[in-house]
Amino acid sequence: MSLVLKQEYAKTFPNLVSAHNIVPLEGPRLALFNQPLANQLGVKAADINVLREWCLGNTPTSGHAQKYVGHQFGVFNPDLGDGRGVLLGEIEDEQAQTWDLHLKGAGPTAYSRGGDGRAVLRSSLREYFASETLNHWGIATTRALALVSSQQGVQRERLEPGAILTRVAKTHVRFGHFEYCYSQRLVTEQKQLWQHVMQRCWPQLTDAEPIEQFRAVVKATAEMIADWQAFGFIHGVMNTDNMSICGETFDFGPYTVFDTFIPQQIFNHTDHRGRYSFLRQPSVGLWNLQRLSQALSLIFPVDALAPVLNEYEDFLQQRYLGRMRKRLGLTHGDDSVAFKRVGEWMGLIQRFEWDFQDSFIMLQDIIKGDRAMPDDALFKEWYECYMADNDQQPQLEVMATTNPRVSLRNHHLAQVIAQAEQGEWTAAQSYLAALTGQSLSADELSHWQQPPNSNEQVTSLSCSS
Ligand code: AMP
Ligand code: MG
Repeated sequence: MSLVLKQEYAKTFPNLVSAHNIVPLEGPRLALFNQPLANQLGVKAADINVLREWCLGNTPTSGHAQKYVGHQFGVFNPDLGDGRGVLLGEIEDEQAQTWDLHLKGAGPTAYSRGGDGRAVLRSSLREYFASETLNHWGIATTRALALVSSQQGVQRERLEPGAILTRVAKTHVRFGHFEYCYSQRLVTEQKQLWQHVMQRCWPQLTDAEPIEQFRAVVKATAEMIADWQAFGFIHGVMNTDNMSICGETFDFGPYTVFDTFIPQQIFNHTDHRGRYSFLRQPSVGLWNLQRLSQALSLIFPVDALAPVLNEYEDFLQQRYLGRMRKRLGLTHGDDSVAFKRVGEWMGLIQRFEWDFQDSFIMLQDIIKGDRAMPDDALFKEWYECYMADNDQQPQLEVMATTNPRVSLRNHHLAQVIAQAEQGEWTAAQSYLAALTGQSLSADELSHWQQPPNSNEQVTSLSCSS
């Protein structure tokens, strides 16, 4: 069967979209194409060229921008929507799962509010790398299918090369879609939207009680954030319009993965109060779910959903503990003992200002006897308890498959971006291969494993994209 682009969302929700003519970039070049993802989507070799034309923005010539609103830094903004994004349509894979295909940076739409409708290469590449890395680490995320580069200039703080990213997701419906229906009292649309989301993301729950359905959203959101906490990922802009309803990490902006673990550090330079800092992510997730449950009160009695919000913390903690058990190779069954040991370990990483990801590799090496133990009483005390808890045999194989040897680092991304802006993509290919666990030469691998030295540390990131 040849590749079919469905228009399920646009046809079902004419009041929630606006038709959009795609404006391709000048001299577009398909700089990155995610062949493994294309395979996973069931795209046959004979259809690859069709898919590439879609990614380039050549065909189809139009798609649909989606309307949504959202709470940005705690303040309601009714004027949002895809200002530079376009839903091309949907394709179905061999397991009958439907996937959205979305171009980001495809020209101005009805919701652009005077913006240029473009995305720069820098932020598109950062999104591509983050989604593929998080996916490799087993964290729910939207995916990147392709990155189209161009020498067409886009003005931000400086004139930068433009790009178009093809994003693949189970759905592009955000918390903000429901907030829009709520703000406009669109009861019928909201009911249909809820059913649409269930069919896409939790087909087994399409006939379930609303509380069961809402529980799925709460759980998915909590587990996504727990995974961020376990891997030191800071999203940076957790506005409700950047929250996917199906709990996939969404709309990457000034995100960071810790090098040195400084939990209170604020990387997004517009986030003056640290609303979206690492330690606040769990509570912001709940705050966002509260906004969602408020929006859903348009179609469900408020009391019906509220109890599920009380389960959020437990979902989050259980998932976090499960992840950290693997990262530390814990075999001890008792949750309270495991939690205590995990908490102490995080305290050690912070105290010694270790590199977040490398500290786990260091621990593996110490257990194997390949590295000397830090000469510190506190560490030794922790290590003794940890080894005793786990019968002197933490699960090294589990640790090895869970703990990344190559991390997503701002200084490496900066190097890759600088080269890509000059039309040179070798470093990008190599780093992406390292991040997603493909085999590389020992030299390349060792280069991408290097944490930043003191003058390469990134402390602040621009939100402009
Ligand atoms: P973001 O910061 O990417 O989450 O975007 C916030 C809002 O601004 C969304 O409604 C975007 O569609 C819109 N937006 C961001 N950048 C642009 C742009 N260059 N042109 C038009 N709209 C934009
Ligand atoms: Mg956004």
